[in-house]
Amino acid sequence: MNGTGFCDWMEAELDALRQQSLNRCLRIVDDRGEEGGKWLTVGGRRLLNLSSNDYLGLAGDPRIADAARQAAEQWGVGAAASRLICGNHRWYADLEERLAEWKQREAALVFANGYMANLGVIAALVGREDAVFSDRLNHASIVDGIILSRARHYRYRHNDPEHLEHLLKKHAGHRRALIVTDAVFSMDGDAAPLRELVELKARYGAMLMVDEAHAGGVRGRRGEGLCHELGLHDRVDVIMGTFSKAFGVYGAYVCADRVLIDYLVTKTRPLIYSTGLPPMVVAAVRRALEVVQEEDWRRTRLRENSAWFRRRLRACGFEVGEGDSPIIPWIVGDNRQALRLSQRLEERGIAAVAIRPPTVPEGTARIRFSLMATHTREELEEVIRQMQFAAAAREEETG
Ligand code: PMP
Repeated sequence: MNGTGFCDWMEAELDALRQQSLNRCLRIVDDRGEEGGKWLTVGGRRLLNLSSNDYLGLAGDPRIADAARQAAEQWGVGAAASRLICGNHRWYADLEERLAEWKQREAALVFANGYMANLGVIAALVGREDAVFSDRLNHASIVDGIILSRARHYRYRHNDPEHLEHLLKKHAGHRRALIVTDAVFSMDGDAAPLRELVELKARYGAMLMVDEAHAGGVRGRRGEGLCHELGLHDRVDVIMGTFSKAFGVYGAYVCADRVLIDYLVTKTRPLIYSTGLPPMVVAAVRRALEVVQEEDWRRTRLRENSAWFRRRLRACGFEVGEGDSPIIPWIVGDNRQALRLSQRLEERGIAAVAIRPPTVPEGTARIRFSLMATHTREELEEVIRQMQFAAAAREEETG
């Protein structure tokens, strides 16, 4: 019982969510431990981490930490203002130049994080008179950007260009149209049909925005992303990505034509009205960008791990979806069962989270495995063993 009674409705709502195994809680990760985050300590238990977005194993890289440390010693820790006021350290400009070069685009713009980039960019590009055509499984930050923009929102069936074309035809006549998609989908690990989307955007005069959050650093010869890997990087109007996943740091970017970047500087509210990233973070990202480009072996290892793990899981009869990325969902369906399986895995030394609605559609609760370049075959074998054990225990429980 709380003091004023003001929060009773919240208690009731939380209780209802608990009944459906849909409540969430923050857990303390005591220690990232050795090997830069491959191991976690949670509740005193040491766990092999299959939950992070640290695909290349860079979040604990001492070279990147050193870059941040040196920058903090030189420049302190805060940007002290929005970039448009006096928070625009020269390292931003330097990083943006390097990003544009890496992506072979005219210009780049750094944002505080991927969520803010998606909110800000979508709301800057379209408004009330416009339409956004968005894959049904796009990330929440894209959905929120569309809502914020007040544009008409048309959701096409997941990775279905035919349905997209049907909607583009049916809802022609808006002032501007924007097609937006994740490059690699965060909860399913499959890739968008970018070639078809590029064709459609050209045919219907729409803009195309691709969120490379889970492909940046992972796809492409120097980690440029999926647009690059497919040779489409100069046919996509807005390429967005984050530094919080394969880069192991924090922050985000957009790469595009110069005019679009100039437009965003003037129009993107999260950039204008929020403090810039700390210079030490920008310095860390700059170092991470070098490592991401140079150490192709990390991508190779990650690719091999992902293909091997997926193949072995399929052979063992697990339902793991369509993708070929390091994101591998074990689709369970029921929320409570997904939670139970995740708990069981944790009891046996594996950190793999249960993902439930509204993050994924109703009836598709899952355990999401995120692989790292630094996982070994023996460790992944152990995960499969524990999955089999957890699945057998579930069978026994449910009869
Ligand atoms: N886009 C996608 C596809 C994502 O998965 C995420 C992070 N989960 C974001 C954007 C947001 O990125 P950030 O963590 O940098 O805010």
